[in-house]
Amino acid sequence: MTTTYSAADLIRLEEAYGAHNYHPLDVVISRARGVWVWDVEGKKYLDFLAAYSAVNQGHCHPRIVAALKEQADRVTLTSRAFRNDQLGPFCQQICQLASYARFLPMNTGAEAVETAIKAARKWGTTVKGVEEDRGEILVFAGNFHGRTTTIVGFSTEAQYRQGFGPFTPGFKILPYGDAAAVEAAITPNTVGILVEPIQGEGGIIVPPEGYLRRLRELATARRVLLIVDEIQSGLGRTGKLFAFQHEGIRPDVVIVGKALGGGCVPISGILADDEVMGVFHPGDHGSTFGGNPLACAVARAALQVLVEEGMVENSARLGEYFMERLRQLRSPHVREIRGKGLWIGVELHPEAGGARRFCEALQQEGLLCKETHVNTIRLAPPLVITREEIDWALERIAKVLA
Ligand SMILES: *Cc1c(COP(=O)(O)O)cnc(C)c1O
Repeated sequence: MTTTYSAADLIRLEEAYGAHNYHPLDVVISRARGVWVWDVEGKKYLDFLAAYSAVNQGHCHPRIVAALKEQADRVTLTSRAFRNDQLGPFCQQICQLASYARFLPMNTGAEAVETAIKAARKWGTTVKGVEEDRGEILVFAGNFHGRTTTIVGFSTEAQYRQGFGPFTPGFKILPYGDAAAVEAAITPNTVGILVEPIQGEGGIIVPPEGYLRRLRELATARRVLLIVDEIQSGLGRTGKLFAFQHEGIRPDVVIVGKALGGGCVPISGILADDEVMGVFHPGDHGSTFGGNPLACAVARAALQVLVEEGMVENSARLGEYFMERLRQLRSPHVREIRGKGLWIGVELHPEAGGARRFCEALQQEGLLCKETHVNTIRLAPPLVITREEIDWALERIAKVLA
């Protein structure tokens, strides 16, 4: 369907009829392919957000779109009351790829986090022997795990919480990157440690080397589940399939989402072995759309292209190149450049006046970025980006940061 609305019309409609729970850049996208998107006026931009890493495989990847169309013509939804011919093969594929025994499918990232929380609590009572309603989960300042009431209840971002209480008890918030604080906080009632391997929304915060390894040791020694939220960091973003692999550890529960849907459909879930996944019995937990054949068919293609087309390796190789070139820019505004793979935060000095205005300037140059927190520009393009496209972007970033 071709639209006859102008960009200004579309923005006006969205503002008039949509809830104002976002403050987007005023670019109205109507077409996309790979790392590029086009606005309604035909202006082309390089997408440096990749839908918060939900589009790691690039926009409208032909193999993913083909899987989507093919499955859309066959069957899209059965609910879990019946079986479908996509769920089993998809679970096998992701379990073999990630080396876990089982997968539990949900839709959004927040639902998968909720699933992990429920798994940890029930594991606590049924396996560890914690008294009912006493299980505690350790979480970290600056975390982002989604927007449900339980999850925002342990956010440290005032705006995420303000007005939405009362909140779910049972979470203890600790400083991020400080393993000694975790060691001191674990009690016999602790059932889980819920951690992002790199804090994405928190500002691309990379914890000290060895942090996850130490959490793994503590979790094992004190009989606590190590739950790693790989919703944004996973599926190639940091140059490994999962960010925890940089530390050579294996979590008890891995939470995935975002790029699992290949930028087409919401699909998320948790990976775990039988000791944890075995706590769920029929009726304990579920989702009407969770494990639907359309999403599973898309996810199968999304994982396949990620691996077969070398996107994880591309993220490692070009991420390193990009970071090195960014560090050579020597802008007076830049305080620190950090990240892993194609997940880079450019933190500006507070005097620079905030990252938002730089994102708006980059938009004028044909580069779409989103600030994270006030002072950090996040650079996270689809993992199919080429060196030439990075060079194209670098020229523009250099100009804006000069
Ligand atoms: C985006 C994100 C979530 C929430 O995912 P939704 O699909 O938006 O619910 C949870 N954890 C992390 C680390 C994320 O980046």
